[in-house]
Amino acid sequence: MHDYHAVEAVVDRLRAAGLTEVVEVRIRAGAAFSPVALRQAYEMLTLGTPLAGSRLLVESADQECACPACGATWHVTCEDLVGHMVICPSCSVPTSVEGATSVDVVGVTGG
Ligand SMILES: [Zn+2]
Repeated sequence: MHDYHAVEAVVDRLRAAGLTEVVEVRIRAGAAFSPVALRQAYEMLTLGTPLAGSRLLVESADQECACPACGATWHVTCEDLVGHMVICPSCSVPTSVEGATSVDVVGVTGG
């Protein structure tokens, strides 16, 4: 569900900006998001709006997580996250991931 809400915020922002002839929207999404879910949400949310038919390109933020307890570092994907927490694969201590739940619009291409 967080995918839906994040995309809703992006769509609101684009519509507030009065953009009408949008071909492509690029966003950078934190590790908590699934690019597929984001694109599905985008299609749903833009139906019947001037943004309908535009493409959402998702750049997944490459996220490294460092465990504060044991110092292990590993690559975080959306499957590892519980909310914005991950469980360290080495020592099982939960750690919060900075920026995992943020979505930024990095570019909009007009028609
Ligand atoms: Zn650890």
